[in-house]
This record gives sequence, C-alpha cells and structure tokens, in this order.
Amino acid sequence: MALIKCKECGHQVSDTAMACPACGARISGDPVPVQGGGSSPVRVVRAGFKWEVIGAVGVIIGVILFATGAHNVGGTIGSVGFVVFMIGRFIN
Ligand SMILES: [Zn+2]
Repeated sequence: MALIKCKECGHQVSDTAMACPACGARISGDPVPVQGGGSSPVRVVRAGFKWEVIGAVGVIIGVILFATGAHNVGGTIGSVGFVVFMIGRFIN
C-alpha cells in the first residue's frame, strides 16, 4: 500500500482507496474491462450499492404490505425505501 496524491485536490490518499476522502474524487479510476471476451467488465461495488439494496428491499416490503391491506404502513415503508434507493444511486 502506498500513498498517492489525489489528482483533484492533492490530498494524500491510499492507492487502495476507491475515492479521495477529502474531495470524493475517484482514485482507482474506471474498472478495466475484462480482456479477451465480450463479457461485461467486473464492476467495483460502490459505497451506495448497499443503500440501493436496502432501499429496494424496503420498496418490496412496502409493496407487499400495501398489497395485503396495510396501506399506511406499506406506503410509508415503500416511500422511505424508494428514497433510500435513490440516495444510494447518487453515492459513489
Ligand atoms: Zn481529493
């Protein structure tokens, strides 16, 4: 592990870091496409991915509750889940 300079702000960042902790700039860059094939490149799991999962689960639970008659609770959970999911989409 080595320290490199963030190209955006000059902050000292570990070269294993996904993003600069000071300004949030990506350090490792875009994932390198897998060579020798048409398969999709290996995606680096983003920090927001878990929030997308949590939000998606919330939406699903909300829809199930809504469908089973718990309109208030289901609607609330579904709405919160959707917001969490959208927040996750914006977190890199
Ligand atoms: Zn930076």
